[in-house]
Amino acid sequence: MRVLGIETTCDETAAAIVSVERSGEAKILSNEILSQIAAHAAYGGVVPEIAARAHVEAIDRIVARAFESAGMKPSEIDGVAAAAGPGLVGGVMVGLTTAKAIALVTGKPFIAINHLEGHALTARLTDDLAFPYLLLLVSGGHTQLLAVRGVGDYLRLGTTIDDAVGEAFDKIAKMLGLPYPGGPSVEREALKGDPERFEFPRPMSGRPNPDFSLSGLKTAVRLVAERIAPLSERDVADLCASFQAAVVDVLVDRTRAGLRACREAGIKPSSLVVAGGVAANQQIRNGLVRLATEAGLPMVAPPVALCGDNGAMIAWAGLERLRLGLVDDMGAVARPRWPLDELRAQA
Ligand code: ATP
Ligand code: MG
Ligand code: FE
Repeated sequence: MRVLGIETTCDETAAAIVSVERSGEAKILSNEILSQIAAHAAYGGVVPEIAARAHVEAIDRIVARAFESAGMKPSEIDGVAAAAGPGLVGGVMVGLTTAKAIALVTGKPFIAINHLEGHALTARLTDDLAFPYLLLLVSGGHTQLLAVRGVGDYLRLGTTIDDAVGEAFDKIAKMLGLPYPGGPSVEREALKGDPERFEFPRPMSGRPNPDFSLSGLKTAVRLVAERIAPLSERDVADLCASFQAAVVDVLVDRTRAGLRACREAGIKPSSLVVAGGVAANQQIRNGLVRLATEAGLPMVAPPVALCGDNGAMIAWAGLERLRLGLVDDMGAVARPRWPLDELRAQA
């Protein structure tokens, strides 16, 4: 079974083809991505109008390349998936319309994918991962703990009451004059810094409910940066390292509360999984490995290249749905807001 997946919810125009062989082995046959980072860098964040236009300009080429590098013709796929949200609606419509057109022309089923479900299921593409699992979803727009019980079956255990983790990384980077996107910049600076120089708060730590709060931490970093300005290179590195150390502690503590919440809900997770753009962060991955070891569970994370937005995650979620017979019709619309726990396994 082979599925084409298209991703255009934010600032990546991406298309990929994934397959599951008769042996059950999952494969990425192609994974094309065009990042718009350069187009948005001057603004320090994604500009929706610029993003939508850039998706229109790139989508045909990226889809054509996904077929070329897989060595396949459109008639050889079994389904076409596109992210239908949540995200910037102008961009989402570009991918959605393209996928519907390909489905119509080839006569193959169309599958509308929740972008977060793409992140949530990616680890099953690269690892032999059984349901249920505890998922820490950390991205540019979301920070949640979910019990993933099956395709389309997500129990939200906790969420952020203010900023997402990726958003906090991006805002700290902007504040310190580091390049967009902020996550990789802050991680790079942190490598050179002292994580113990500044003692930043660990919001929500110790609370039983596995919720998150990041805005107080962000403000604490801003106040220190303002107090010690002008900032030397050393100061910037130390601020990044101390901020990142606080984030790691917060995520580990909150995920520990998530494991407890699973137990209380009678769910026995097979693994601890981290996904989303922020899951690329090595210190965060290390912290979660320590927690998983403490809990006697395997820690599973997609390869770094599949943590940020990509086409393979959408193609894979499409394949998971298609093989369960969960397909959509041409009436599927772009959804700017679309919580994962509103999904249903039945289309
Ligand atoms: P969402 O998935 O919630 O709709 P999004 O698709 O924009 O949002 P992703 O592409 O999944 O988000 O993730 C991007 C985020 O990940 C950005 O905020 C970015 O700064 C962050 N990020 C990327 N790499 C790292 C890293 N190494 N460390 C920390 N954060 C990172
Ligand atoms: Mg992105
Ligand atoms: Fe994403």
